[in-house]
Amino acid sequence: MGKNIRRPIKGIRIKNANFAMIFVSCVLYVLLITATIRATNRYHDVQKAMDTYVACEHCDTLLTTGSAYLTEQARLYVVTAKKQYMENYFTEVHVTQRRESAVEELEAYYHNDEIYEALLNALKDSNELMVREIYAMKMVAFAAGEDMDGLPDEVRNAQLTEEDMALGQDAMMEKAEDMVFGNEYQNAKEGIAGHVDRFMDSIQEATNQGMVESARKLERTMSQQRVLVSILFIESIITFIMIILLIVKPLQVYVKCIREDKMMEITGSYEFKYLALTYNDIYEVNATNEAMLRYQAEHDPLTGIINRGAFDQLKKIFHAKSKSLGLLIIDVDKFKLVNDGYGHEMGDKVLKRVAKMLEDSFRATDYPARIGGDEFAVLLTNVTEDQKDIIQDKITHINDKLLHPSKGMPRVSLSVGGAFSNEGFTDDLYRKADLALYDVKEHGRCGCRFYDESHEYHGRHGESENAEKK
Ligand code: GH3
Ligand code: MG
Repeated sequence: MGKNIRRPIKGIRIKNANFAMIFVSCVLYVLLITATIRATNRYHDVQKAMDTYVACEHCDTLLTTGSAYLTEQARLYVVTAKKQYMENYFTEVHVTQRRESAVEELEAYYHNDEIYEALLNALKDSNELMVREIYAMKMVAFAAGEDMDGLPDEVRNAQLTEEDMALGQDAMMEKAEDMVFGNEYQNAKEGIAGHVDRFMDSIQEATNQGMVESARKLERTMSQQRVLVSILFIESIITFIMIILLIVKPLQVYVKCIREDKMMEITGSYEFKYLALTYNDIYEVNATNEAMLRYQAEHDPLTGIINRGAFDQLKKIFHAKSKSLGLLIIDVDKFKLVNDGYGHEMGDKVLKRVAKMLEDSFRATDYPARIGGDEFAVLLTNVTEDQKDIIQDKITHINDKLLHPSKGMPRVSLSVGGAFSNEGFTDDLYRKADLALYDVKEHGRCGCRFYDESHEYHGRHGESENAEKK
């Protein structure tokens, strides 16, 4: 453990990726909010420009209709001499005041402008025309013999020239008509209308330009918004993909590895790779410990072959299976004498040698085990009674060697009893092999015999059962 700290691990760190994503998101959101505020302002600009345009249109209407109304009422009065028209005229001049309110309204938009000055001049010209209209109306009123005191101040105060006063009633009426219908009047009127039109055109053009400019800016800001939203969308997708690749997938892989009791795959982010490497280190240590403990639990420490406990497990594994098996029970003859004569250490050496010879003589599929002090067993898999001779030869060979030991080693021999089964490790297999062993011991030791029915009559009188229970 701790090894992986020195091991270089490549991989994206979730912590860094997280910070980067938060930073990018914050920047994008700030830009988006700024763009939204800018878009709102641009929208207001467009709206304001539109309001101005509408207001200009309205003022134009007021100016035109107000002016036309004055002309109309003045002309009607001049033609009919009906006082009502004069009253209408002055109601427009003093009360309704469409032209004035139009100019006032426009002042809110263009009060400092040269264009507005031009408008004021047009209004001045219009007022000068009014003097002419009032003069005409005065002539008509005079010619009609109106009571001057009942007329508006402007009419009353208008001074007719001596020349006009000298005119007869009809000539006076005719002149008055000419003043408001004649070419001079018409030209002056058109001149003013032309001024107003030019003024309105200028205003409309300026307003239009403002609208177009604001709309262009709004469009630009909106395309910036579109770009930012697209980047945010892509950033979200990248975040999801990163979460899947760096967190979700590795978690799934690791859970699978834990479930299947396997080492972890090194995948995902730096943190997961670190986790997996640490887990694998612990896993390795545990696996080694476990294997060591298992080995210790299953093997005899002196000889290294499997012990009684593991042999019992084998019995269970091969119990009542339709398998052909052979079992040998082996006992060292007069082993006590070895211990007594050569010492316990030498006794241990002999036991180790016997175990080694059993391991070397039998196949890898057979299981030699030490099941007692000087007692061994070999579980032979896939053998039948036909192979008795081969087994017997192996034992004879071992005994030959044990009886002719290398220098310093005591002479020993093995007594071996064997039995076969075609139904796996049956309950009485051990007893049968032990009876055969007993038979060997009874008949001079150093040999190998296999169980047959006769052993039942010369048996150990129940000793073998006890031996197995040990
Ligand atoms: P027999 O031919 O009847 O088997 O005679 P024997 O002397 O071998 O008698 P037995 O099998 O009963 O004796 C087993 C001896 O093995 C008794 C015990 O002192 C000895 N022994 C048991 N375990 C060990 C061991 O681990 N090391 C040594 N050196 N001796 C052991
Ligand atoms: Mg013995």
